[in-house]
Amino acid sequence: MTSSSVPSVKLLINGEFVESRSTEWRNVVNPATQEVLARVPFATAEEMDAAVASAKEAFKTWRKTPIGARSRIFFKYQQLIRENIKELAALLTAEQGKTLPDAEGDVFRGLEVVEHATSIGNLQMGELANNVANGVDTYTLMQPLGVCAGITPFNFPAMIPLWMFPMAIATGNTFVLKPSEQDPLVTMRLVELALEAGVPKGVLNVIHGGVDAVNLICDHPDIKAVSFVGSTKVGTHVYNRATQNGKRAQCMMGAKNHAIVLPDANKQQTLNNLLGASFGAAGQRCMALPVVILVGEAQTWLPDLIERTKTLKINGGTEPGTDIGPVISCAALDRVNSLIASGIEEGAKLELDGRNPSVPGYQDGNFVGPTIFSNVTAQMSVYREEIFGPVLCVMQAASLSEAIEIINANPNGNGTALFTRSGAAARHFQEEIDVGQVGINVPIPVPVPLFSFSGSRASKLGDLGPYGKQVVTFYTQTKTITQRWFDEDDDVGAVNTTITLK
Ligand code: NAD
Repeated sequence: MTSSSVPSVKLLINGEFVESRSTEWRNVVNPATQEVLARVPFATAEEMDAAVASAKEAFKTWRKTPIGARSRIFFKYQQLIRENIKELAALLTAEQGKTLPDAEGDVFRGLEVVEHATSIGNLQMGELANNVANGVDTYTLMQPLGVCAGITPFNFPAMIPLWMFPMAIATGNTFVLKPSEQDPLVTMRLVELALEAGVPKGVLNVIHGGVDAVNLICDHPDIKAVSFVGSTKVGTHVYNRATQNGKRAQCMMGAKNHAIVLPDANKQQTLNNLLGASFGAAGQRCMALPVVILVGEAQTWLPDLIERTKTLKINGGTEPGTDIGPVISCAALDRVNSLIASGIEEGAKLELDGRNPSVPGYQDGNFVGPTIFSNVTAQMSVYREEIFGPVLCVMQAASLSEAIEIINANPNGNGTALFTRSGAAARHFQEEIDVGQVGINVPIPVPVPLFSFSGSRASKLGDLGPYGKQVVTFYTQTKTITQRWFDEDDDVGAVNTTITLK
């Protein structure tokens, strides 16, 4: 396709999908084939201002929309996502690369948050205390903030936008979304379905872009809260800049997740779980398991781990039976390959080399096969960097306590897992580990939306997480009302200059 015949990704401003007037565009590329699927604009400052202005105007009426009316939109929305899940997954695989079943999982995990948004009536209830002083009641209102904004990463282009705008809108806010510029197509289809479900014009707006769009969101005086998911470097910048401007911010960021394997674990289950979590989605999950610490006798499992890894199939994400698709871009591939080279130079033992795999029919794709290093130490780049590719670092420890120390010394605290049959070891682990999401024989313990996504240390900034109960608090202002009604025959008494309310 020539660049002029490639479809352009639209902005969504005040209920209209509009062509950007920007002179700066980038291609959305299929990572398995390098086919250019679309062009995405870097919106102009005027366009971004118009999106925020539209959200600000829409807030005047949306904030007063009854809770049942808001809820019913999300009942319709979940139905539309369900009906279109295959189409959404196909779009996602084309631009992101993950396998079709995994793409469906990406949409499904977002759908669960939409289902959660239907319960907004229960979630957004305030509290009331009767008779806190003589004839006085106190109650709380959880009121929407105004215009909120979301900035999303490339690796879950369905799930993560759905972490954000449904709950923000359900709580009565209006929203400006900035999707990843690398794969905005499935996000835009989800936005179209949201409008079809009844989200009124101006309530949801979309701008595209990179640094300038992100900075505008952090600086704009009419934006009250910012949700960010992405790398630690960018998230830290967003948190600092947005909070300095007086906004609420929640930033879910980078990771280097470790699994600990104790020798009493169920070996076959553990090996399968490790493989799925380390190499699934080509390692491009913030909850992937790129580090495994084998404790004591479990170190003898390494040859089996390597043999089983060799059975994984690398192919285009649309091919049936594929385990590992391409990484997102040529630049990401170069980075993964150079980190593998650094591992060799720095003295790790390359047990399995996934570089330059042969993938018939996809010669131009950004493929790297599963790669395993052993004898990895905490000083090596393969350990320190978030590789975000199918590269597993195997470490050793003599005891569970030593393994916990390794994890707690790593700057990141996103996810972790322990494989064991010992309840006592599991309890010790859950108490001592400083990580947000903890799995016990569960390799990717992403919480369902009844709970909130968490994170410790460099993996999260801001107190409140996305979805679950916490996000209702994040997207609302608690107002405390203390009220008393006088009876006509109440004794007026003297003026009271003390603080008591009795
Ligand atoms: P990224 O930080 O490069 O991009 C995230 C967003 O920030 C994108 O919308 C992008 O346009 C924007 N951006 C990129 N560079 C910027 C800059 N210099 N200044 C301002 N904005 C910028 O992240 P990514 O590569 O798209 O996603 C992968 C990262 O996201 C990994 O680190 C992964 O661990 C993390 N992630 C974390 C979670 C979580 O819940 N903790 C979930 C998914 C992904």
